[in-house]
Amino acid sequence: MSQTIEGGCLCGNIRFRTTSESSYQLLCYCTDCQAISGAACFAAYGVPIESIILIKGEPKVFDIAADSGRVNSRRFCPDCGSRIWAQIDELGLASVNAFALDHKDHFKPLSNHCPESAPVWSQVDGSLEYFPRIPRE
Ligand SMILES: [Zn+2]
Ligand SMILES: [Zn+2]
Repeated sequence: MSQTIEGGCLCGNIRFRTTSESSYQLLCYCTDCQAISGAACFAAYGVPIESIILIKGEPKVFDIAADSGRVNSRRFCPDCGSRIWAQIDELGLASVNAFALDHKDHFKPLSNHCPESAPVWSQVDGSLEYFPRIPRE
């Protein structure tokens, strides 16, 4: 199924669209997402990498090995620093920052990822599914 959604960064220098339905919608409490977001969790709107089309600008790329051992390639605006998406080429998936989407109502978290890393003061919604780490072959 195709679904076109547009989004961008805080300053407007990066604009993109995604052209497929989401593969997952989750809240990621991993410590990397916390460090880069300044928040208890990252709201991830997952889509196939190839469904992201840049309309304007070129995000800066920061690659880091995730806990899974896969390279997580994190994309952000070089001007305002907003997170745009993070992609794992090995899985063919990109986690778009749900708050970079123009219409916030496209995102509805269905699961928690790495809730064991949530700060004790945060309110993890236990009614959401647990989204397990995808093991490496
Ligand atoms: Zn920007
Ligand atoms: Zn994370």
